[in-house]
Amino acid sequence: MEMSKDFELRCVLCNRRFSEGEVEYTCPHCGLNGTLDVIYDYGQARKELNKEAPGSLEDWKSGMWRYWPILPVHRREHIPPLAVGGTPLYENKVVASKYGVKRFLVKDDGRNPTGSLKDRASAVAVARALDLGREHISCSSTGNAASSLSGFAAVTSRGATIFVPESAPVAKITQLLVYGARVVLVKGDYKDAFELSVKAIDHFGWYNRNCAVNPYLVEGKKTCGLEIAEELGWQVPDYLFVSVGDGCIISSMYKAFYDLVNLGMVDCYPKIIGVQAEGCSPVYHAVKNNLSKVAPAQKSDTLADSISVRAPRNWAKALRAVKETGGSMVAVKDEEILDAMKELAVNTGVFAEPAGAAAYAGFCKMAAEEELDSSATAVVVTTGNGLKDISGARKAVGPPLVTRADLGEFIEVIKESSVVGKNFCRSLEARN
Ligand SMILES: *Cc1c(COP(=O)(O)O)cnc(C)c1O
Ligand SMILES: [Zn+2]
Repeated sequence: MEMSKDFELRCVLCNRRFSEGEVEYTCPHCGLNGTLDVIYDYGQARKELNKEAPGSLEDWKSGMWRYWPILPVHRREHIPPLAVGGTPLYENKVVASKYGVKRFLVKDDGRNPTGSLKDRASAVAVARALDLGREHISCSSTGNAASSLSGFAAVTSRGATIFVPESAPVAKITQLLVYGARVVLVKGDYKDAFELSVKAIDHFGWYNRNCAVNPYLVEGKKTCGLEIAEELGWQVPDYLFVSVGDGCIISSMYKAFYDLVNLGMVDCYPKIIGVQAEGCSPVYHAVKNNLSKVAPAQKSDTLADSISVRAPRNWAKALRAVKETGGSMVAVKDEEILDAMKELAVNTGVFAEPAGAAAYAGFCKMAAEEELDSSATAVVVTTGNGLKDISGARKAVGPPLVTRADLGEFIEVIKESSVVGKNFCRSLEARN
């Protein structure tokens, strides 16, 4: 392989540095907990990536690939042919004034090709697999990483074996099967699926797309944070809300701003706020109790399947993201997630799956508790599309009206319902 870029890997726990060829996944001294950061030659990268030249078209039709100098892929012809990133950041004044912040924006990452932010990571995973000449890729997943990998493996003709908990939503399992991956439903939860995948990947020598193991995947996810900064004109938002499962997305938001600070493109970090479901909130508990490690949760009891993670694998980077940015963690109830899903859709037009809406629920909760500054700019990232989990979404809404195809009956039926739109906002009014 021709090494076109210079970067090192640095362990989040012991700070040891490694060259690219020296280690493949995690720190040999710290084991699976020692996840690695990719550290670029920022002096070199600065020449190609700066405020005057914020990015270039490296294909596939740009999107996330515009930040090419700080992406860990060597050959641009290995960029997979599916359009990732460049998702919209919507500003919403109604939400801003309701919750008493200066600006509110939502980044709709459910608009990616397989419907979640995970596509940013999968795109890098398959590009790396192509760089390295690896034929078969594998991961375990609560669902979205899996459906994403299967899509990207399909377009790059790689084989994929994917482990998901048997309780994963039907839509996600269907996506996997449609893209032609070998799908294994593991009896148990995500922790069980992860543990089996680690053994199988080792046994068969497959390329590992587990985000908290493979250091390059957070690099893909960070492009969401880079886009937010760029869309805000390189102004750093005061608060950045993301939901937390394994802790990779929250770590990637930190990494986005770490890179931008090192490139001299911004001079500070947003306060990163991680949101978990109360029914499974190990990172929240570690932060609230000021612990230096995250202990696995006893149970995972939430409808937000994508963040139903008892033993977060990227816990060390997740804690760093919160602590070093002056951020915090919030835990929200499933009912708050469902209310948030509906309210977000009504106010902004963004329909997010439960784990995506959880970030908005965290924003609402902190705002209601007056923990946000009135002069603040808050950005919420919705990480997955609402159509991923229809049975979750149906719990958030009432039944539709039903009528025979008869105008008289229709007129009677709508008398009992209030004006369209407004009647969906019960929770909004109740909160006021
Ligand atoms: C994976 C996922 C998350 C959580 O990301 P982690 O990196 O596991 O913390 C949140 N929302 C959605 C929709 C996801 O697919
Ligand atoms: Zn280490």
